[in-house]
Amino acid sequence: SEKTLDQIVALCKGRGFVYPGSEIYGGLANTWDYGPLGVELKTNIKDAWRKKFIQENKYNVGLDSAILMNPQTWVASGHLGGFSDPLMDCCECKTRHRADQIIEDFDGTNVAGWSNEELSNYIKEKNIPCPNCGAHNFTDIRQFNLMFKTFQGVTEDSKDEIYLRPETAQGIFVNFANIQRTTRRKVPFGVAQIGKSFRNEITPGKFIFRVREFEQMELEFFCKPGTDLEWFEYWRGFCRDWLYSLNIKPENLRLRDHDPEELCFYSKATTDFEYNFPFGWGELWGVADRTDYDLTQHIKTSGKNLEYFDGTTNERYIPYVIEPSLGVERLFLAVLCEAYDEEMLDEEKNDKRIVMHFHPALAPYKCAVLPLSKKLNEQAEEVFQNLSKKFMVDYDDAGSIGKRYRRQDEIGTPFCITYDFDSVEDGCVTVRDRDTMEQVRLPISELEAFIEEKIAF
Ligand code: ATP
Repeated sequence: SEKTLDQIVALCKGRGFVYPGSEIYGGLANTWDYGPLGVELKTNIKDAWRKKFIQENKYNVGLDSAILMNPQTWVASGHLGGFSDPLMDCCECKTRHRADQIIEDFDGTNVAGWSNEELSNYIKEKNIPCPNCGAHNFTDIRQFNLMFKTFQGVTEDSKDEIYLRPETAQGIFVNFANIQRTTRRKVPFGVAQIGKSFRNEITPGKFIFRVREFEQMELEFFCKPGTDLEWFEYWRGFCRDWLYSLNIKPENLRLRDHDPEELCFYSKATTDFEYNFPFGWGELWGVADRTDYDLTQHIKTSGKNLEYFDGTTNERYIPYVIEPSLGVERLFLAVLCEAYDEEMLDEEKNDKRIVMHFHPALAPYKCAVLPLSKKLNEQAEEVFQNLSKKFMVDYDDAGSIGKRYRRQDEIGTPFCITYDFDSVEDGCVTVRDRDTMEQVRLPISELEAFIEEKIAF
């Protein structure tokens, strides 16, 4: 069935996945807090990434680098010079807009690489209106740096100015030599990291799609120059298959390769993974061949030798880098959209249910223990205690069993375990499947293995 962003936002707020940030103070625009279910879903997404990109991958190792970095990092990476957006204000309603974005939203024109003059001329030529008030009167475009600035220490001198990182990648590049030396890895190898990034976005919005504080899951994969396009293909396929394995449907995902004129000047190949969100296709994941650009920049700026020495061939070179960069919140939103469903169970009685068909590995709770009667609480709690040593388990003894099933359907719990009066005698419980709603009777002693098998990923 069709789903709208509003339905998903409402479910998130109502069931405790995502709340508006600082709500009791009237909020803080475009900040979001992840509630009891949201934190589980988010953690499971990150764990699924860590599992496939680090734990099960023989090439990659992990890292957790600092958010605050020496500002020279941003000189080297180009963020202090070039990381800016073309901004203009509406002269009527005074709202601020990204010139590139209002063109793309207006008629889908790809404006990558356009100068401010070209953007400005196009807006005039097509008579593009202000998205907020419809006026056609804008200020000139100027560049605006997206990095959050703050001060380190007690004085607010410009020499103490530092930035919150706008991407996690640079923490990997500056540690390239440390990691290579301490792990004694040979190229090719990758370094994967999950962490917060901050961008002072001008036009955040669409729920958690574009926010100013977000988390990235980034891999920088170092390989020998000349093998980079092969590795680019490899990671492009690996990332796509990983999304499919989490039940992202192929028809909701498209891999858009950048045209040569759209590519960043240092990139040999880039593919945007786009997801079919309720508001249209939006970038989920960027996979790019960044050549030796970043390491070369850090060599120039730091004066340190970050070359790799291949002991078997006696060659020295600066590795090329393949970078798959994924936003946790964007995947979180895609997973919610993919899972959300309203099912008509009985047309005559107009009996509907909302159900979240999460992959069991991502579901916040793996199962819920439901005593049929409060008289059975003691025994049912024992089942809860044992299972919760292994998984996140919910416990609910309030209301009819039917209502309790529906509550679990709405939060995507794959299995409901009902403890009834027979259970006391036969040591068995009823296990209901979220998707098929079918029920089986299982010995309590087999529950753990049963769930373990279903959530395997
Ligand atoms: P966009 O064009 O949407 O601004 P981008 O091309 O600047 O994104 P990258 O710099 O390639 O994005 O960042 C890599 C990934 O980080 C993106 O694919 C996205 O998943 C995530 N990301 C980037 N900016 C944001 C943001 N403001 N909010 C949430 N996620 C983000």
